[in-house]
Amino acid sequence: MKKLSFLLLAVFGLLVSCNNKTEVQNNVLTTNDTTEYLDCTTPVCTILLQPYDKTAEKYAKDVSKTLKERIESMDYICVQQVKVLPIKQLPDTLLNQAKTRYRATKILDFQKQSHYKGHHVIIGVTSSDISTSIHGYQDYGIQGLAYMGQENCVVSTYRLKNKKDLWKPMVHEFFHAFMHMPHCPADDPTCIMQDGHGKPNWTKRTKICNKCLGYDAQ
Ligand SMILES: [Zn+2]
Ligand SMILES: [Zn+2]
Repeated sequence: MKKLSFLLLAVFGLLVSCNNKTEVQNNVLTTNDTTEYLDCTTPVCTILLQPYDKTAEKYAKDVSKTLKERIESMDYICVQQVKVLPIKQLPDTLLNQAKTRYRATKILDFQKQSHYKGHHVIIGVTSSDISTSIHGYQDYGIQGLAYMGQENCVVSTYRLKNKKDLWKPMVHEFFHAFMHMPHCPADDPTCIMQDGHGKPNWTKRTKICNKCLGYDAQ
């Protein structure tokens, strides 16, 4: 019984830590907003946006609210905070051999060294072109890359036609990085997790499909 009450307290403790409107009084959980309380029983995360230039900083600031709302609406994740960090300069050593694009994996390794303790996911943002070895090419220009499940990803606005769509590659990489989510098994063109197949078309991608969320599409 003692063990059980300790367990209950631990659960309450967890709930309190993700919602400052929730209080424990005499072991009774009270909350001002039941909906918020329910949202916070799901995975909680905080996101750091790391801009690498002035243009990227502007985009990062503009997208932060939308990013939080979209992630929360798609997978019941409670995003506590999206914080935009001060601009950092990407060193030239992260460029490809021709010095025309930054290697995305080198940016991810660079971010791994950053101190993002206390935050869950880092998303690098650059307006420069980034590349990786994919689709049979050694240096293929891409819009984003993540280390699966390692809470580390990067997006580039360089190849993004409609900059208002920036939240989409961000959410895509975020799900790879934080939720360990692979590409859409249904290859659904309306699903945010669809593989870009080298030329991602973000226009139609506005939701996450049931298959990706682990439900069978009916
Ligand atoms: Zn899907
Ligand atoms: Zn992907």
